[in-house]
Parts: sequence; C-alpha cells; structure tokens
Amino acid sequence: ELPSSTTEALPRYVRVNLIKTSVDEVIDSFVDKGWTLLHVPTDFSSFKEVCQNLDENQFLRDFHLDDLLVFPAHTDFHDSRLVQDGTVILQDKASCLPAHILSPPEGAVVVDSCAAPGNKTSHMASLMGNKGTIYAFDHTIDPYVCQCEDRIEVLQERMEGAGVSCKVARCMDFLRVKTDSQTYRDVEYVMVDPSCSGSGIVSRLDSLTNDDASVSQRRLGQLHKLQAQILRHAFSFPKVKKIVYSTCSINEEENEQVCEEIYEKFKERFKIKKVMKNWPERGRKGYQKSDRYLRASPTATLTNGFFVACFKRRKMKQEVGS
Ligand code: SAM
Repeated sequence: ELPSSTTEALPRYVRVNLIKTSVDEVIDSFVDKGWTLLHVPTDFSSFKEVCQNLDENQFLRDFHLDDLLVFPAHTDFHDSRLVQDGTVILQDKASCLPAHILSPPEGAVVVDSCAAPGNKTSHMASLMGNKGTIYAFDHTIDPYVCQCEDRIEVLQERMEGAGVSCKVARCMDFLRVKTDSQTYRDVEYVMVDPSCSGSGIVSRLDSLTNDDASVSQRRLGQLHKLQAQILRHAFSFPKVKKIVYSTCSINEEENEQVCEEIYEKFKERFKIKKVMKNWPERGRKGYQKSDRYLRASPTATLTNGFFVACFKRRKMKQEVGS
C-alpha cells in the first residue's frame, strides 16, 4: 500500500555521468558550494531514515549504487550547470537499477531494445567507459506515447549532451530486428525496458487506481502481449548471455507474469538470476521465481514503483570448469 503523500518523501537522486567526471569530483564540487556530505549508515533502514530527514544542504552517497548521490526531496537542480552540461543526470534510483544489473563491461556489444528517451542507454555507456557498441532501438505506434522519430531525436540530443559516442540509434521496431544477421552476431547483452502502464510512477498512482477496472484490464492485456513478444525476441540473438527486463509498472501482469511465461520457453538454456542480494524487496509471492525478481517502491526503497528481472545463459556442460 502506498500512502498518497509518498511523492513528498522521495529523495532527489543524482546520477554521476562517468563519461564526463568521477563521483569524487562531483562530491567535491557540491561541498565547495556549501553542501555537507553525510556518512552512509551500514544498514538500509538507518540509511532510509537519514534520507528522509536530510536538511536542505545535506547529501550522501547511495546505499546500493556507487554512481548515485542522494539529496533532499524537491531539491531543484534544473538550473544547475552540472545538469545542463550532462555531468550529472537526474534519474530516479529505481530506473538506475537495470544498467547496473546488466552491467555490460567496457567494449561489450549491447542492444537497448526500447531505448528512448535514453536514460538507460546513457547509463550503460557511462558504466562501459563509452567503449563498445550499444544498438539503441525505438519504435512506437502506441497512441499513448509520441512518435518514434521524435523520441529518437530526443535520445540523440540527450546522448550528445551526455557525451555518449558508443551508440548507434535506430528508429526501428525491435521485433523486426534480424537478430541472426552479421550486424548483431556479437551481441551479448540486451536491455528490455518496454512500454508499460507506468503504474509505478508515484504521481500516476492515483489515476491508475481511479481507472475503470475493465479498461485497465484490457490495456494491461495488450501491454502484457507486447512486453512478452519483445522479451522473447531478445533471446534470439545467437550469442546473448544476459538479458535484463524492467518496467515502471507495479502490475503482476506486466512483470512476474511476463517473465514466468517467457522463462518457460527458455529455461533449459537460461536461468533467472537473483540480483542485488542486499535489496530489500522481491517479486510478488506465488510465482516460481518470486525471490529472484526485484521490486522497488516508495515505502520499501524510497523510489518509484519498479520491477527488474535478469536472465542469464546457463553454462553448458562442456563449459563448466573450462
Ligand atoms: N529505456 C528508456 C529509458 O530508460 O529512457 C525508456 C523506454 S520506455 C519505458 C518504452 C519505449 O519502448 C518507448 O519509447 C516506446 O516507444 C518503445 N517501444 C515500444 N514498442 C517498441 C518496439 N516494438 N520496438 C522498439 N521500441 C518500442
């Protein structure tokens, strides 16, 4: 259950763009401007308490993610030079989880299947030291979102601002990507962050609960179908070894149910990996792999509602021990 005042309580998260700077440099620059850096408590409940009681000039590193800083709720950074020049990016902590969980190394060949406006593309590039290739696709015929060309244009602008040079952006339906073609033969990491109801976004929670139930159910059904198709297609890259699936939805139809349906088809070659073992919230009870999924929420993790699953290729017998 989510109290209606949760919007007030969410801290402001600032992601450091490692293409342009380091976390220490950003910390120094805030301290120079009069901010006070607090120590990070060793347990998460104390950390949450500190985050919810920050004075207006206090900040600290995040408990889980080492490129993230936490500031008081409502701090307005939009005029800050660091934001304007792409040194830091304002991004909710939950939305920073997928890139960390996929964690493509420097030089990796990556696909971002549903990329616009590019938060996760730029985050992956930051973690990859801007080295490697990220094929970023976006396409939509969904009347709920603006059209593909505009979305890819926004992505291109944001990548330029963030100094990302390792991406190839394509306005293309991911479902039509020929995954076995020469171009994509070395793809090993795939990010799947498809269209979703957005029901986890705190400011939208009220509208979802007020929706006519049958309309939401119909929309959820359509979304589930699209999400499952996109996730399934990700498994068809011949060398893929890790796939991360995420949504900013709190509905089981878009999360656990999509993952379990697709897992059934690929379970001989892939497992669902338990990620971030020190994370406090897991999948909804009653599913085969409930404890492997990660959920985020305003109350448990001080973030928007979010879901992440990680599929990892099993080692084949001849690979074990080799
Ligand atoms: N990953 C993005 C980020 O972090 O900034 C957010 C992605 S948003 C949740 C989902 C995106 O999926 C939308 O931009 C939508 O246009 C795109 N999309 C939906 N169906 C698609 C398809 N078949 N192929 C490629 N992109 C698709």
